[in-house]
Amino acid sequence: MSLLEVSGLSAGYTAVPVVRDVGLRVDRGELVALLGANGAGKTTTLLAISGLVGTYAGEIRLDGRSITGLPPTRRARAGIQHVPEDRSLFPSLTVDETLRLACRTRDSAETVLEYFPALRELGGRKVAALSGGEAQMLALARALCRDPALLIVDEMSLGLAPLIVNAFFPVLRRIATERECGVLIVEQHVHVALRWVDRVHVMAGGTVVAAGTTTEMRSRIDDLAGAYLGDQEHSQGRQR
Ligand code: ATP
Repeated sequence: MSLLEVSGLSAGYTAVPVVRDVGLRVDRGELVALLGANGAGKTTTLLAISGLVGTYAGEIRLDGRSITGLPPTRRARAGIQHVPEDRSLFPSLTVDETLRLACRTRDSAETVLEYFPALRELGGRKVAALSGGEAQMLALARALCRDPALLIVDEMSLGLAPLIVNAFFPVLRRIATERECGVLIVEQHVHVALRWVDRVHVMAGGTVVAAGTTTEMRSRIDDLAGAYLGDQEHSQGRQR
């Protein structure tokens, strides 16, 4: 049994679904990437898993239990933490205040900071004054404070320099392994993602068009990139 099992999922914002018949899974200890060109339906799929957009058909199971009809708060209580594309931090709070609100104990904050030691130096700094990389660290740290079974990270690399992106992947890898949680990310840097993730799902036109382990997908990625991922992202990724 996988940690997350999504089958036949249709979801969207109005009466017309923008993702259809999506199937994917994430196991405990796994880092899984959702890849696809702009508008492929990646963000919508993540929002549907967290209960933040309407689901019209299909099933979402967490640890074997259906969460399809549950509101977002109950899914969060069941173990899903979602770091959205805009990171949704409060700009007027400091780093310390953000973590104090999220972490139940000082010990849990300390454990989380082991993954992001750079945040220790920034405790008194307001979120508004953080760099993009620092804000992403804080968003991930805040999500980890809730000890998620499934950590969802949308567009993890958005606005970050390639060097910083490269530094985030080993941390996510450690989080998945050491905390035995599943990590599901949307990532634009295809070739960087392929170096670190365990499995990949490729989306196009609102559905999953290819899926497999990283080893299986590596040999197919040139064909898939040409067909589905957008040449620009693909070639940028190859240069890194
Ligand atoms: P990107 O990489 O550009 O973020 P994506 O693969 O995450 O793309 P989605 O953001 O899921 O794609 O968008 C899928 C489709 O849903 C697109 O056609 C988009 O225009 C549409 N869409 C996204 N957000 C909304 C919304 N709030 N209301 C209506 N339609 C939306």
